[in-house]
Amino acid sequence: MMLAISLSVAAMTIIVALRYLAVSGGFALLTRARFPGLYGGLDTQIRREIAWSLASAFLYGAPAGLLAWGWQNRGWTRVYSDVNDYPIWWLPVSILVYLALHDAWFYWTHRWMHRPKLFRIAHAVHHASRPPTAWAAMSFHPWEALTGAVVIPALVLAIPIHIAALGIVLAIMTLMGVTNHMGWEMFPRPLVEGRAGAWLITASHHQRHHQQYGCNYGLYFRFWDRLCGTDRGLGAFDRRRGAAARCGDSAGDRSGGPDPRAEEHEGVDRTVPHAQPGALS
Ligand SMILES: [Zn+2]
Ligand SMILES: [Zn+2]
Repeated sequence: MMLAISLSVAAMTIIVALRYLAVSGGFALLTRARFPGLYGGLDTQIRREIAWSLASAFLYGAPAGLLAWGWQNRGWTRVYSDVNDYPIWWLPVSILVYLALHDAWFYWTHRWMHRPKLFRIAHAVHHASRPPTAWAAMSFHPWEALTGAVVIPALVLAIPIHIAALGIVLAIMTLMGVTNHMGWEMFPRPLVEGRAGAWLITASHHQRHHQQYGCNYGLYFRFWDRLCGTDRGLGAFDRRRGAAARCGDSAGDRSGGPDPRAEEHEGVDRTVPHAQPGALS
């Protein structure tokens, strides 16, 4: 039994790691094609992002592997494979319920990790990417990775979901985790700045979190940020060649150490060079 669980954990870790490398790598290539040189000068940071992300892959893979074994062998989890087990309307609704609950968990744990002491312990690693790249999707300190890794396993134990719907939730999670950090907006402007964008989070929204820290904590939806007054609107991108590295240099050192701004960032607006109007594109 222990061997089977170990194999399941190892398999899931490899799947999570390969998924990260494929999706982040794919969007990094797309970034190079669309905005050549945007990540210029960020090689050291990118290596660090990949190392933290691969460590996170184990922390995400371990509970997932254990649950996958329990689902197959012990009937754990509420994951079902016969589409007729629940009403058909539950398929799309379950996806929304999972995303909404994940979003709520993320908002509150993320906001909590921005308290100065916790920031230094758990969240500074993620913000050491200044600015983040497509490789930063899972660049978390193990403490932060743990807070993220327990969400989906907890939900599948409590709330029924079809295996395909779960696949869609995981695909959205992966896609948004990567694209929200890649330094440019892939969704059309009418969507991002229109009615849907007022409630949905894409790269433009999360970019502002990485620029200003004390705002825009959400993951998929702007609901909690808007309700709690922490939504500061959309950020801006500087897509000029090497802009990312220039921004990083001017934002301070990128050593991964505690960010001095963490001391006073709660609720405080500030701008960094690539949020200036002249850099809008
Ligand atoms: Zn943060
Ligand atoms: Zn981030």
